[in-house]
Amino acid sequence: MQDLQEMWQKVIFKMQNLVSFITYDVWISKLEPLELTNDNKLILYSPSNAAKQQILNHHSKQLLECVHEVFGEYVDYEIIDKEEKEKYLEKSADNKYETFNTSDKSQFNEKYTFDNFVVGGSNKFCYAAAHTVAENPGKRFNPLFIYSGVGLGKTHLMHAIGNYIAEHNPNLKIKYVTCEKFVNDYIESLRVSENGKDSKIFEFKDNYRNVDVLMIDDIQFIEGKKSTIDEFFHTFNALYQNDKQIIITSDRPPKEIDVEDRLKSRFSSGLIQDMQIPDFETRLAIIKNKALIEKYYLDDDVMNFIAEKPFTNIREMEGMLSKVFFFATLMGKRIATLEDAKEAFKEDIIEKEQKQVTPENIINHVCSYFGITYEEITGKKKTKEIVEPRMIAIYLIDDILDLTLVTIGKLFGGRDYTTIIHAREKIADLVKKDNKTRSIVNDLKSKITSV
Ligand code: ADP
Ligand code: MG
Repeated sequence: MQDLQEMWQKVIFKMQNLVSFITYDVWISKLEPLELTNDNKLILYSPSNAAKQQILNHHSKQLLECVHEVFGEYVDYEIIDKEEKEKYLEKSADNKYETFNTSDKSQFNEKYTFDNFVVGGSNKFCYAAAHTVAENPGKRFNPLFIYSGVGLGKTHLMHAIGNYIAEHNPNLKIKYVTCEKFVNDYIESLRVSENGKDSKIFEFKDNYRNVDVLMIDDIQFIEGKKSTIDEFFHTFNALYQNDKQIIITSDRPPKEIDVEDRLKSRFSSGLIQDMQIPDFETRLAIIKNKALIEKYYLDDDVMNFIAEKPFTNIREMEGMLSKVFFFATLMGKRIATLEDAKEAFKEDIIEKEQKQVTPENIINHVCSYFGITYEEITGKKKTKEIVEPRMIAIYLIDDILDLTLVTIGKLFGGRDYTTIIHAREKIADLVKKDNKTRSIVNDLKSKITSV
């Protein structure tokens, strides 16, 4: 449970910045995390019922935002008081058994359904393909390969397929994983068998091949992981030959993913469908839909105001929407007005400007993205696996921060400023010409600036 505690500390740390000292000290700091359930609910214990009511009535949105930031947006929370805790503890053993049995459905965010997905010109083909696959898994488009930029609804559509199948075809076994989890599961299965204990690799194969539907989200994460790519190739074939449905998402088309050709051709053997940035009407419809689901009360001109902004990422647009409503609530209003929206946007810009990004911070992000160490990236090695991330880190530092070339050179083991210029120009050129580099750079940039 150490992890849960640590993560909870991060949540309350964030809360500390959002509420007054008294509120924090009297109500928030007394909460205690009990469990993160299989259906993604964080159970919090509040020793007093008054504290529970106070938090739910006045700070529930803030708490939810912080929980989302730390645990992910699928996680909801529930506060239980003393009396409820006893009941909870009694039931908890049975519950675990139940959630285990119904794990198929609980993998999916219940809000990510086809009904909640707004269809427009930018995504209608993808929506139709996803719906067809959900209705006839394994029979029509196999694999279904969906790609788009970040925050444009890939994960939502995958969950929608999952929710649909779990409802209409409950006897089918579905497995949804992020590519990261697939990679980790595979590595973990090898690690244990190398130790000479029971081989976990069979369990791994069993887990991934004994399913009717396999969904892998963000497959581009597999790049550079040779043995996992190999294993995935075999998993893919085993499922495909048995007419099992495979659904894959990615931030770019198969031909631009750096994997061997035989896997690229597998990816392309079914249907490849992309999604674009939604137009104004679709963005407006998404905002209306979201406001309805989340019970945000907003004037119509607020919705227009947000939809007119050039968002290229729906998640960010939704974040702004909740911020506007939250802002109005803070002002004691029930309905957000255009004035609140303008204020919230202004604040957002100031916040972004104030965000402390350091060069070390950027280097760390690049390292974890490519799976290399700080020493390697700032060191002398000249292999391709290191040089490319190094150049990207240099490019990003130069782009995001206002540092001299000599200072940047020092960060990378005292490299000469001409080396820094070379790296910067090389990546700037690739960003223009090469989709893959562009998407890596953009992805990293949004990760770095959103911390
Ligand atoms: P991706 O996986 O492509 O990065 P997500 O599926 O996580 O994007 O979508 C980001 C957010 O935007 C989610 O909250 C999702 O519900 C919402 N979203 C994206 N597209 C749509 C849409 N067409 N209709 C409704 N919500 C959408
Ligand atoms: Mg996603």
